[in-house]
Amino acid sequence: MDKRYNTLSAYLREKYGGRLGKICLDGGFTCPNRDGTCGVGGCIFCGERGAGEHIKPAPIREQVRAYLSSPAASKYSGYIAYFQNFTNTYAPPEILRKRYAEALCDPQIRVLAVGTRPDCVDEPRADVLMEFTSGLDVWCELGLQTASDKTARFINRGYETSRFSDAVNLLHSRGINVVVHIMIGLPSGESEREGADEIFETVRLINSLPVFGVKLHSLYVMRGTRLCGIMERGGYQPLEMDEYVRLAAEAISRLRPDIILHRVTGDCPRSLLAAPDWNTSKSAVIAGIDAYLESHGLRQGSKI
Ligand code: SF4
Repeated sequence: MDKRYNTLSAYLREKYGGRLGKICLDGGFTCPNRDGTCGVGGCIFCGERGAGEHIKPAPIREQVRAYLSSPAASKYSGYIAYFQNFTNTYAPPEILRKRYAEALCDPQIRVLAVGTRPDCVDEPRADVLMEFTSGLDVWCELGLQTASDKTARFINRGYETSRFSDAVNLLHSRGINVVVHIMIGLPSGESEREGADEIFETVRLINSLPVFGVKLHSLYVMRGTRLCGIMERGGYQPLEMDEYVRLAAEAISRLRPDIILHRVTGDCPRSLLAAPDWNTSKSAVIAGIDAYLESHGLRQGSKI
């Protein structure tokens, strides 16, 4: 079926002649929303490993070599070095430079991707990322989750939305591609959940900025998180799959047509998932979004 939105795999095929394997890395960083700098306890949905539950900590070169010698790597001829868990610009610039350089230890790595928080991007850190843009694509992945400051306070995100726009503009001015993570299904208060209005407002903010890519995540509840505690005492109800599919498809139809969708759902390691059960059915969720777009005559950007 013709995809009705821009997929990362199509983008990579056009740019690199094929898909790239993703090397998910633990850079040995922490997060200012956990160590008390801007908050404690972290975002309410975040697990112990800072959104990188499947990554085993090890020296960075070892992590890269372990992936490249694995059967999974043999499917690809190029790779993305992705600093995934915690806040990967949360260190002095000289440390960042060293750790990013360690990850680029193989010439088949075509993209350096760095996940971080908008309040941890300033000029010196953007300049370090820019140093790697000669001969390499550099993506900076910003966790926005929502444009609503009310929701952001409830989920303990730890920064005001205005910081996000500043970070996007700064990174763009340095030639860095910005990928934005947003979540559908977020609680906006005790027994309150974001609906279409809040989600479309988040999409409108993204559309107004020089954003290269978006990762749409379905919010899932991981065992041991504060969100799990809220759910267990009845203060949060996860979305049903059909609600997620509708909201995701409607959000895509309002997303600027040049933006690349790097993912359209989230997936939690099975052993850590508390709810919803459908989170493990990634291909069914993607098929549901495709079918919704098709049956409603929608495409990316058709409702702008
Ligand atoms: S900013 Fe990221 S790593 Fe830090 S608490 Fe929130 S989700 Fe976890």
